[in-house]
Amino acid sequence: MGIEYGGSGVSPGFAPRLQNASDEERLLEGGVVVTRLEAVVNWARKYSFFQYPFVTACCGMEFMSVAGPKYDLDRFGAALPRFSPRQADLLMVVGTISHKQAPILVKVYNQMTEPKWVFAFGACAVSGGFYDNYSTVQGIDTLVPVDVYVPGCPPRPEMVIDGLIKLQQKVAKEKFSDWPRGAAPVTPACKL
Ligand code: SF4
Repeated sequence: MGIEYGGSGVSPGFAPRLQNASDEERLLEGGVVVTRLEAVVNWARKYSFFQYPFVTACCGMEFMSVAGPKYDLDRFGAALPRFSPRQADLLMVVGTISHKQAPILVKVYNQMTEPKWVFAFGACAVSGGFYDNYSTVQGIDTLVPVDVYVPGCPPRPEMVIDGLIKLQQKVAKEKFSDWPRGAAPVTPACKL
């Protein structure tokens, strides 16, 4: 019994080539894809970020802009914010973090399931910005591990999208052995 391929989507000349192919080639031409499990999992992860927006200050306006229809984060698979840390894997830290807020940020990070990534959105999250004072955390990387830093006061939506693409590139190169990272390396002294 011959192999018949018809219908749309089959390129001309495909069926004759398939008739003459070896069993192995026939399997491959029939839609079997050979790849690494790690590559497939990373591919799925990088196009399905669920953000937890930790929004504290004026950068939040820019975050709303980038999340809106004009810039359309759906194109990157990162449109759906989740307001439960256990259902999110991308912590977007948007705005100034005070020492009083630090324990809450660490708690939210620790409650997120792994794998999880952290995005420092704006100069204040990256380094404290121009708030070089006693009450402001001088960069969220003193509290939690940060994967992407996007400076700017506030950053333009294009910069945020560029940071997101860089995060996708980073996720694509990760190994299973990179996880779990464990709890945040600090425990802020202040009690909730
Ligand atoms: S970086 Fe600028 S816009 Fe963003 S929270 Fe700080 S002061 Fe506000």
